[in-house]
Amino acid sequence: MYKKILVPIDLAQTEKADAMVKAAHDYRTQGGEIIMATVVPDFPPYVVSGLPAGYIEDQLPGAKAELREIATSAGVSSANTFVRAGHPANLILSIAESEGCDLIIIGSHRPGLKDYFLGSTASRVVGHATCSVLVMR
Ligand code: ADP
Repeated sequence: MYKKILVPIDLAQTEKADAMVKAAHDYRTQGGEIIMATVVPDFPPYVVSGLPAGYIEDQLPGAKAELREIATSAGVSSANTFVRAGHPANLILSIAESEGCDLIIIGSHRPGLKDYFLGSTASRVVGHATCSVLVMR
């Protein structure tokens, strides 16, 4: 059982999100906390320069609302939601560290990529996290 569980969710692939949030609910101690986090990936500078000003910042409130919807439909009303913009794996690791999470529940990879054990974000998190990581396949 864990006191603070981080569930990183890629809003571009939410198939496993419900199962991940439900697992977090099952694995947390009584009174334990769940943090759902999504990272809006940074675009390279040559793309950003072609975007309207504030384009990335405008995505953030919508992303928070999507996380809340996932939590509600999984029956977990008490989850905290974090939205960041930048490099997904690095920010997942940094949130886990700064929030003192004792478990990360992460998806293995995009649906359909069954020949690969782990995607690039998941493998970086598994390799560098200082807490336990549960990979949902
Ligand atoms: P793939 O490369 O097949 O998409 P990833 O390693 O990127 O595989 O994704 C696996 C898991 O990593 C996702 O299910 C999610 O838990 C986490 N993840 C990936 N991208 C993000 C993101 N932008 N924000 C939050 N979590 C993410």
